[in-house]
Amino acid sequence: MLADLSPAAPPHTAEPGRDILHEVFGYEHFRGPQQAIISHVIGGGDALVLMPTGGGKSLCYQIPAIARQRAGHGTTVVISPLIALMHDQVGALHEAGVSAAFLNSTLTSEEATAVEKRMLRGELTLLYAAPERVTTPRFLAQLDSMQERGKLSLFAIDEVHCVSQWGHDFRPEYRALTVLHERYASVPRIALTATADAVTREDIVERLQLEQARTFVSSFDRPNIRYTIVEKKDASQQLLRFIGNEHAGDAGIVYCQSRKRVEEVAQMLCDEGMDALPYHAGLDSKVRQANQDKFLRHEGIVMVATIAFGMGIDKPDVRFVAHLDMPKNLEGYYQETGRAGRDGLAANAWMAYGLQDVVNQRRMIDESPAGEVFKQGLRGKLDALLGLAEATDCRRVRLLAYFGEASAPCGNCDNCLHPPAVWDGTDAARKLLSTIYRVQQASGISFGAGHIMDIVRGKQTEKVTQFGHERLSTFGIGAAFSEQQLRGVLRQLIAISAVSVDGQAFNTLQLTDASRAVLKGEVPVSLRESVSSPKARPAKAAKGSSAKAGAKAPLELDAQGEQRYLALKAWRAEVAREHNLPAYVIFHDATLATIAQRAPQSRDDLQGISGIGAKKLEAYGDEVLRVVAGVD
Ligand code: ADP
Ligand code: ZN
Repeated sequence: MLADLSPAAPPHTAEPGRDILHEVFGYEHFRGPQQAIISHVIGGGDALVLMPTGGGKSLCYQIPAIARQRAGHGTTVVISPLIALMHDQVGALHEAGVSAAFLNSTLTSEEATAVEKRMLRGELTLLYAAPERVTTPRFLAQLDSMQERGKLSLFAIDEVHCVSQWGHDFRPEYRALTVLHERYASVPRIALTATADAVTREDIVERLQLEQARTFVSSFDRPNIRYTIVEKKDASQQLLRFIGNEHAGDAGIVYCQSRKRVEEVAQMLCDEGMDALPYHAGLDSKVRQANQDKFLRHEGIVMVATIAFGMGIDKPDVRFVAHLDMPKNLEGYYQETGRAGRDGLAANAWMAYGLQDVVNQRRMIDESPAGEVFKQGLRGKLDALLGLAEATDCRRVRLLAYFGEASAPCGNCDNCLHPPAVWDGTDAARKLLSTIYRVQQASGISFGAGHIMDIVRGKQTEKVTQFGHERLSTFGIGAAFSEQQLRGVLRQLIAISAVSVDGQAFNTLQLTDASRAVLKGEVPVSLRESVSSPKARPAKAAKGSSAKAGAKAPLELDAQGEQRYLALKAWRAEVAREHNLPAYVIFHDATLATIAQRAPQSRDDLQGISGIGAKKLEAYGDEVLRVVAGVD
């Protein structure tokens, strides 16, 4: 869905850029608002594009760059902060037969000079450059000379939220990009980001003087991602089951909160025979870089990471993102899960969440040195995330609503697929709250969750005897509830701030202003029935057979097709190694699977398969046919 926020746009009859979409990229249709954006920019208009990760932002400037170069306008300069990715992005363009290069600090000065010369001679359709490079006097002088000759076609400013302090990744050097508009007012600009919120958007427009730009806002929905949030019991085993049952051999990311936990989980997955690597800020930068490269270049690697990992990871075939610990807020959750399924194929976002997560996150906020107003903001954001975790209705509806988008139940989240049985926890909640109150009254001090639940359930523990809590009127009033049920109720009470956790005092529980409404029965507490999780396929099954042979194809294939698919992947790995590029830059999995399914006999049969453009047909057509013939 496209919401065009600017006044009347001229209707277009032809579809500018469609020929390039077919010929160069080998794709049949534009996705979402791509067509509207591309015709606007080809026509020389400015654009601000807000599109979720995986929405297909690159084509929005690459196709106009090619079209405008063909029309004699010269070179498009792409400004991107993601230096580590420029090499692969430019490599992907070369594979598609587009002339491109990059300028950043990884080049020697001789290499950089060679690129500059090619740019000045007008040989480049796209030039990628880091923001700090673009604003140097030397580079601006080169742009001046291109401009004078009418060979400066377009500026594409990627990750444009970096210009705003409200975005999650402020970079001061982005501020200096105003020079582009001031110095080259006639050169169109397209600015792109996956960060949606209104404050950041307004800030971008103001900072970069994009008032004249047409704004294109895509739906932020990622329909191919299935959201699942499970109650945390034994997180490691749950993760093993999830990967073993649904993702053997797939590439995925597992997010954990601490470095220590990252190391442990990565080790555990390796012990189970998976290819898992750790990534966190405490690792040596060389190790970190090597692990990231492996994740991008090899297949089926599971990256276990803190949130230090992920910015600008544009690997399209990440099949799952798992959270073993809860992120801080919905923005983080959405961004991290968004790294799954950029290729549009089915992907899973899975999170295990428990009482301890709620306690930890609340405590971290309470203990932070920030001011009270700021903390209140953080609590509000955490509450929204807890609301999602506790939800018994469609997760996607809640997620999109948070980002200001209305939607209907999605049919592709755990709650839609298996509507949870719900029980009314109001009674249990009141019993817990009155116990917290009475204990405090009787003893003058507060206690933690375990002790409170023991009293409610009437358990005669040492601590109960020590404090004489068996004499409380609430002792044993909730004997009918299981500990798990009470734990769930308590989690939700903390989530809705009807109970607070004192991190300074052994995580003891206290009543809050919001407790009264629950005690009076004004706020219903409804909880999902805890279902015992399905029996696991032994995690070891992932070892050897399926894990090492690689993930299953994204299409239904018969035995012969599977053979072709595997042979094609082996061939692709070889080519990718030779070209020093990630495999997906050569062909996506979906493209290989389609080839495997159709068993083409001739170049004509290859034509029209999504992802095979003219250059790739020319370069790889015969080899692909040979690989297919070798299997049949
Ligand atoms: P973003 O930068 O918005 O996260 P990308 O530009 O990396 O997304 O695109 C995500 C993936 O979708 C890429 O692999 C790209 O080749 C593919 N893609 C983009 N547009 C189309 C399209 N119209 N048809 C098919 N695939 C597309
Ligand atoms: Zn749903």
